[in-house]
Amino acid sequence: MLISFLESATKNQIDSVLEYIHSSGNKSQFVNNGNSKTLILLQSENIDIPEIESMQGIKTVKNISASYKLASREGHPNDTIINIDGNLIGEKDFSLIAGPCSVENEKQIFQIAEFLVENNIKFLRGGAFKPRTSPYSFQGLGIEGLKLLGKVKQETGLIIVSEAMDIVAIDQVAEYVDIIQIGSRSMQNFPLLKKAGELKKPVLLKRGFSAKIEEFLLSAEYILSEGNDQVILCERGIRSFNDHSRNMLDIAAIPVINELTHLPLIVDPSHASGKRNLVLPLSKAALVAGSNGLLIEIHPEPEKALSDGIQSLSFNEFRKLKSELTILEQALKQEISN
Ligand code: PEP
Ligand code: MN
Repeated sequence: MLISFLESATKNQIDSVLEYIHSSGNKSQFVNNGNSKTLILLQSENIDIPEIESMQGIKTVKNISASYKLASREGHPNDTIINIDGNLIGEKDFSLIAGPCSVENEKQIFQIAEFLVENNIKFLRGGAFKPRTSPYSFQGLGIEGLKLLGKVKQETGLIIVSEAMDIVAIDQVAEYVDIIQIGSRSMQNFPLLKKAGELKKPVLLKRGFSAKIEEFLLSAEYILSEGNDQVILCERGIRSFNDHSRNMLDIAAIPVINELTHLPLIVDPSHASGKRNLVLPLSKAALVAGSNGLLIEIHPEPEKALSDGIQSLSFNEFRKLKSELTILEQALKQEISN
């Protein structure tokens, strides 16, 4: 249950509500919520709602059955739209976020940035701190990579996305980027989620590759409950028994997540497939299934990429993807006539 207090609620009024809740054997927890002065998250639900509604200082009382109280659509029926300098992610917008798996050097990242600007793409994603399965694989340029991203942002105005892997680096990442990515492997790094919640910057949260949807939304809840309501979810494929792709894109998760939460959801067909030739068909499927956008890996010379070259699109392939998605988007607006 979510209890929101009026802006004008006094300490005495709030204390009376707390006393009532505790005396009826319930547990409560204050959470930060941008829209409401104070909010209490109850862990037990056997309580008299009209009784609380009638108390002084109360704005709304909502009974929410989902465990993820703030992420749930039950308490927040309208879609959340993330607005970054007038660029929207969510609801009817379909956002393309593209860039290299890793920032490799100045020439490479500027080549990509210029390509994106030429093609009217607003969001650049590039990894500076890379979570790699093997300790011998390229680990990213770290702070040097962030500085290059900062330079790109300054010179092009592109909106920058990059991953933070731990609570130490997240402050540095936040300094240089517009959207902080939390990767699949970190989806249940709870201290990192809490820190991302405190930072008040948009967060792109990727689904853990073995996470259920409820676990995914509870991870988003960690960020929301620290007072950061700017969370973008990313479906990036889950582990399966198949061996024809790197992961299995959970297409059904798109409509399911859209039904369960108000948060925007984008899809990463690059990591889901691990194969360049699968990126376009999976992108189309994601658009049709209701995704709010895509995260696509691109590289000027994919065969020379320091990480994930096999799944990265060349510039020409990305142009083709954009134009085919534009045609598809138009087609989806058409009515079927007999
Ligand atoms: C990435 O986006 O660079 C990445 C490593 O993806 P994931 O966390 O989904 O594996
Ligand atoms: Mn990658």
